[in-house]
Amino acid sequence: DRKPDSGGIAVIGLGRFGARLTDSLNALNYQVLAIDRDPQKVQKWSARVDQVAQADSTDEDALRQLGVADLNRVVVAIGASVEASVLTVLALVELGVPQIWARATSVQHSKILAAVGAQHVIFPEAEAGERLAHLIVTRLLDFV
Ligand code: ATP
Repeated sequence: DRKPDSGGIAVIGLGRFGARLTDSLNALNYQVLAIDRDPQKVQKWSARVDQVAQADSTDEDALRQLGVADLNRVVVAIGASVEASVLTVLALVELGVPQIWARATSVQHSKILAAVGAQHVIFPEAEAGERLAHLIVTRLLDFV
């Protein structure tokens, strides 16, 4: 049983971060449209994810054909290519997606994403490092 989601969610980029995010949303009973340009990634995830599509997310028309313009929330999980990430956010803005979450790999990258129109910018590696530091310090205090 899938939860009725107000508008639907897509995750773009099935690297380690995007794939794990998609898995977690599925585990929480949210249906996700996962998109990657790499046919091998699409093939790999098609067995585990309900909806997987192969497309270059910088191509606005390709996203429109997949129905992305009708979704309420889209996460851009592309990390390595700043260009692909920024052009994807631009395409999503052009399509009128109301809630765009985008992954940044540097401060400059995050500023561009926000300037182009991403509502939420996330730093998964920085946040994981910060959490681990707190965890280590807490554990150290436990043993004082
Ligand atoms: P992670 O750290 O999550 O493993 P990464 O930084 O190693 O990611 P990236 O190069 O950011 O890897 O790519 C993440 C995924 O995004 C890859 O599966 C890649 O095929 C996909 N991707 C990259 N560019 C595009 C694009 N233009 N359209 C669709 N998917 C893309």
